[in-house]
Amino acid sequence: MSFDTFGLHPNLLKAVRGLGYTDPTPVQKAAIPAILEGRDLIGCAQTGTGKTAAYLLPVLHRLLHDARRGPRVLIVLPTRELAAQVDAHCRELTAHTPLRGAAIYGGVAFTPQLHALRAHVDIVAATPGRLLDHLTRQPAWFTRLQTLVLDEADRMLDMGFLPDLRRVLTYLPEQRQTLLLSATLPPAIVALAEEMLHTPLTVAVGSQTTPPAGLAHTVFPVSPSHKTALLLALLGRPAMVGVLVFTRTKHRAERLTETLRGVGLRVTCLHGDRTQHQRLQALEGFRRGKYQIMVATDIAARGLDIERVSHVVNYDVPGCPEDYVHRVGRTARAGAEGEALTLMTAAETTQVRGIERWLGQILPLEVWPEYIDAPVAATPVASGGVRRATSTVRHFRPRRRATIRRAGR
Ligand code: AMP
Repeated sequence: MSFDTFGLHPNLLKAVRGLGYTDPTPVQKAAIPAILEGRDLIGCAQTGTGKTAAYLLPVLHRLLHDARRGPRVLIVLPTRELAAQVDAHCRELTAHTPLRGAAIYGGVAFTPQLHALRAHVDIVAATPGRLLDHLTRQPAWFTRLQTLVLDEADRMLDMGFLPDLRRVLTYLPEQRQTLLLSATLPPAIVALAEEMLHTPLTVAVGSQTTPPAGLAHTVFPVSPSHKTALLLALLGRPAMVGVLVFTRTKHRAERLTETLRGVGLRVTCLHGDRTQHQRLQALEGFRRGKYQIMVATDIAARGLDIERVSHVVNYDVPGCPEDYVHRVGRTARAGAEGEALTLMTAAETTQVRGIERWLGQILPLEVWPEYIDAPVAATPVASGGVRRATSTVRHFRPRRRATIRRAGR
């Protein structure tokens, strides 16, 4: 199946070719025809599946056949980075069309966003808070709305945006197409969908329990005091070109960034306490290769699409298995290959067991004995009660041990 079969506008197809997409992804195959028909849709697809283009392409096609002016597509997203990312993707897809978009989020000046709305942009990608600021001052911005997209809906609910979302809805016309995209479909999302969508089609592609296919997972047992030294040893491997490192807290992200910078590594940091300007600079620098490493917390890195991520390192094991899947989904995007490396202290074995149960898969262990003061339990149990096969445990001795150890202390 090629993109030509959807009957999309030739100028959109030109952009698709320019981006190098040859075949539609599964979510695109399922969603594009239904959205073109004007149907409401619930899309349950993990990030990295091409879900953004799956809704943007048909929505843009419909806009190209609508002569009216003003914001007619509103995409609501949980974070500023995602709003900026979807706006950028939209620009790529509309490159050969007169359609224009704008991103609206907090932490940056209000007036340029106001100018963009006044200049009759067609597509707005927004976070709920700043969107409400605009709507309370000018309730009529979206009177011509054709399509509302709620992207990463489960995350918006997790982040407590439901009251804001309900308020946003009061400013929107009831006659509209509504698309709800969510990595998971917990009961709260289903209830929201029932309330807002009319006889929606549900498209589920992959599931939140499935990390990208081209991804290799490895777990490294480690003592807490050796985590940074082990990370430095891993970073010395030649293939580590774009490394996203996750920590549990903002404070740990800051501290680790300082340590890595202190040994001369090109590193930046992304978490919720950084200013919008700092966050965009960090992302851009990492995207363009100025930084080899970006240290981040979960909230800041959710849904980000950065091609260069060759490795995801869980410096701290995430508290819930879903976060593991989200984190590792930052690499091996759109069919590429990637590696997920997880540093596991004795206290974190329970979390790793939970991840293995969730995935129904035993994650291979790689043991570097010098980073373990006392033995770490190495027998996580997968869902069927299967004990870790000894063949999945590899013992490893880093080649550049002396240098690495000095660097880590
Ligand atoms: P998303 O799931 O929307 O975050 O998309 C993940 C990545 O897949 C983005 O970098 C897109 O540019 C890319 N992508 C989207 N559709 C396709 C396609 N049909 N073929 C190849 N890459 C794609």
